Amino acid sequence: MPPIEFIAFDADDTLWHNETTFTQSQNKFKALLAQYHTPEWIEDRLHANDMRNLPQYGYGVKGFTLSMIETAIELTEGRIQGSEIQQIIAWAKEMLEFPIQLLEPVASVIPQLAKSYPLMVITKGDLLDQEVKLMRSGLLEHFTHVEVVSEKRAANYQKVLKRYAIAPEKFLMIGNAVRSDILPVLEIGGRAVYVPYHSIWVHEHAELPRFHDGYYEIEHLGHLPALLEQIGR
Ligand SMILES: [Mg+2]
Repeated sequence: MPPIEFIAFDADDTLWHNETTFTQSQNKFKALLAQYHTPEWIEDRLHANDMRNLPQYGYGVKGFTLSMIETAIELTEGRIQGSEIQQIIAWAKEMLEFPIQLLEPVASVIPQLAKSYPLMVITKGDLLDQEVKLMRSGLLEHFTHVEVVSEKRAANYQKVLKRYAIAPEKFLMIGNAVRSDILPVLEIGGRAVYVPYHSIWVHEHAELPRFHDGYYEIEHLGHLPALLEQIGR
């Protein structure tokens, strides 16, 4: 296989912690509605609404918040108070302002790799939120390109690679979501490194393509430089 010439990273739960803030809000949401329903039922209903709304709202905090409000109205049969809706909105603002916590090896690995490769971020979700997070992460200067897409499908990866004239076989994507960061990249002939995060959103769950030639798995990003040595330049 030709040497890797271009490396792209997923952002949420690959470069910094993200899913934990959603889990925290969801826990507060379950506590807010505790007098009406069991935590399991609240979680089920919220997830169902969130999934149904995804094609219209897209990924991110704002869509998730609208789904929480909708679920609260539904599960209380309209009895939810204005002040409680205000509480949900306050959680959303907290999530949007949450300090960026880089994953352990990121602060050293990214600047190191940036010396040898052009690095890109490919992330999905809300454009403004993702841009702000990247800015606040302190990592922006190390990336030559940033792409925020609405959905990480094979066709979207293809478009990005075409825009920058990158051959798929020289492209390596790194991320924590098999469904979004790994499978579509393998599908277009690229290679992909799966770096598991301790908690994964149910929506992103997928079977690992363990027998695929272009698939790699590392425990954390600290192992990436050694893997790059191994798969050749
Ligand atoms: Mg991710």
